[in-house]
Amino acid sequence: MNFVADRLSKIKPSMTVGINVKAKALKDEGKDVIVLAAGEPDFNTPKNIRDAASKAMEEGKTKYVPGKGTPELQKAIQKKFREDNNIDYQLDEIICGVGGKHIIYNAMMATINPGDEVIITAPFWVSYPDIVLLAEGNPVIVECPQSQNFKITPEQLEKNINSKTKWLMLNSPNPTGSVYSKKELEDLALILKKYPNVLIMCDDIYEKIVYDGIEFHTLASIEPSLKDRCLTLNGVSKSYCMTGWRLGYCGAPKEIIAAMNKIQSQSTTSTSSITMAAAVEAISGPQDFINEHNKKFLIRRDLVLNKLNDIDGITCQKPEGAFYVYPNCEGIIGKKTPNGKHISNDEDFMTYLLEDQGVAGVHGAAFGLSPYFRLSYATSDAILEDACNRIKEACNKLT
Ligand SMILES: *Cc1c(COP(=O)(O)O)cnc(C)c1O
Repeated sequence: MNFVADRLSKIKPSMTVGINVKAKALKDEGKDVIVLAAGEPDFNTPKNIRDAASKAMEEGKTKYVPGKGTPELQKAIQKKFREDNNIDYQLDEIICGVGGKHIIYNAMMATINPGDEVIITAPFWVSYPDIVLLAEGNPVIVECPQSQNFKITPEQLEKNINSKTKWLMLNSPNPTGSVYSKKELEDLALILKKYPNVLIMCDDIYEKIVYDGIEFHTLASIEPSLKDRCLTLNGVSKSYCMTGWRLGYCGAPKEIIAAMNKIQSQSTTSTSSITMAAAVEAISGPQDFINEHNKKFLIRRDLVLNKLNDIDGITCQKPEGAFYVYPNCEGIIGKKTPNGKHISNDEDFMTYLLEDQGVAGVHGAAFGLSPYFRLSYATSDAILEDACNRIKEACNKLT
């Protein structure tokens, strides 16, 4: 008997989650493994946020809460959108979910009819295509190589829009650390204005993690006439080091919010009431630790960037945000390992790095763009230094 539904055959489990599990298992076996595959900050959740959660528990805020978010949280999010992004969302245009991933999932389930197309720029966040497939949509992957800073051009966008296009997924900063400038968003907006059937998912989860004075922009504020077709996604996982708490939120047209709420009311009901109380403090409380974290991330970025660019066969572009590098490994492909194995793609390279040196990264193919790999620098300088030295050693052994 096969008890599993047919729809599951179309999707695969999250690759980044999988690699982390595998690498952590090796570590538990006592192997000396450095895992740079994780998509989360290494800092603990700030104390004021943890305290707000304790207080909520003591005060009995432990009961069912509205799925869209408690009134306090909804207002905090509304204020955040106004102040940070200059977007005026009404309360019925805001919803919270169990992480940003859940918001994306609910939005796709709420809007996609079988056969609808979703334009996804590669490198993409690994869950986008599979969520679209689960919702019975068709992902349309648009490769955006290093030569265009891993960003979609207006020409590429227009070429891929047709009458079936339901969504464009825009992610900035994206998994390479590239950030869309105001001008680039304005140019994309000019195209999008011509196609009223297209919704735009603006995944702004890394909004607050940007470097070198780069300014963050989001489409609904750059082009207010697109606000009624944008879903502006954010959450507390990355900016506030709250990946395990599970809270994401968005602003979007109220029909879409109502549809997402309907799904949520019959599935998860809501995220935890305690998490919601903590998120109010995260979003409305002091923000200075974000700068402190960014200063540390910046030092790490430069450390990794310099060391990787010093390796033969690897070139790495400077990320403007998030906490990943996405180096090109074209110069490694085609080489042979000391065991005589041929490295024919970025996945082979990552397997070799893990086996030879115990360094776990994620191959570019998982993000839809090869030959690259992704390393997270959300870990200590010492570990990063060690990891880069090991990568260099592994590369030097190739012939
Ligand atoms: C981490 C992440 C998310 C959502 O994360 P949650 O923990 O579910 O809130 C969404 N998009 C991108 C690009 C991410 O890296």
